[in-house]
Amino acid sequence: MKFVELKLIDPILKALEDKQYSRPTPIQEQAIPIILEENDVLGCAQTGTGKTAAFSIPIIQILHKRRNGQIGNEHKLEALIVTPTRELAIQIEENIRLYSKYTNLNHTVIFGGVKQGSQVKAIEKGIDILVATPGRLLDLIGQGYISLDDVNMFVLDEADRMLDMGFIQDIRSIIRLLPTERQSLFFSATMPEKIVYLSKQILKDPKKVEV
Ligand code: AMP
Repeated sequence: MKFVELKLIDPILKALEDKQYSRPTPIQEQAIPIILEENDVLGCAQTGTGKTAAFSIPIIQILHKRRNGQIGNEHKLEALIVTPTRELAIQIEENIRLYSKYTNLNHTVIFGGVKQGSQVKAIEKGIDILVATPGRLLDLIGQGYISLDDVNMFVLDEADRMLDMGFIQDIRSIIRLLPTERQSLFFSATMPEKIVYLSKQILKDPKKVEV
């Protein structure tokens, strides 16, 4: 299978060409069409499978298409990706930067352990896609710098690690702030009962993706 068979738009195909990816990985082949059809996804996949592109590419495509139909170039936070660690957050944003380089979508990354000043500045420029770790996200929401009212695509990445790291209450708080009308993508390397239970609180009629 080739990327073009996944019905990707030219700005994304061009970015993938620059990356010299010759074909989608199995998780990308499975997940991209499902996400483009705006379904919820329960994905069982480890890091290293191409999981990040599997959710980033369709999010960029959906937002780009939607925005192109609009007059003006207003940015609003429509896609939120929550991941447990600073390293993962940085990697995901890096991926988004590469795949969205021929679009005019804005994105940034926030995480704890550093001063918030430059993160707040980036947010104040107006962003479409935000990658965040849970604590810093809730912190900046609490201070009024971020609102989740316009989020309609939500990704919970590495859900099992989130739970292992004790983020369950933070995740619950974030979910409560999300509009109920949304598309949710849930990824975990393992699927113990606790994770399945959490996924049911987030997802609506999900399609399963497994590699
Ligand atoms: P991930 O599982 O998202 O952490 O991705 C693992 C690595 O695979 C990253 O370095 C990606 O840049 C790379 N990658 C993702 N998709 C593809 C692809 N279709 N072809 C080749 N490499 C890829």
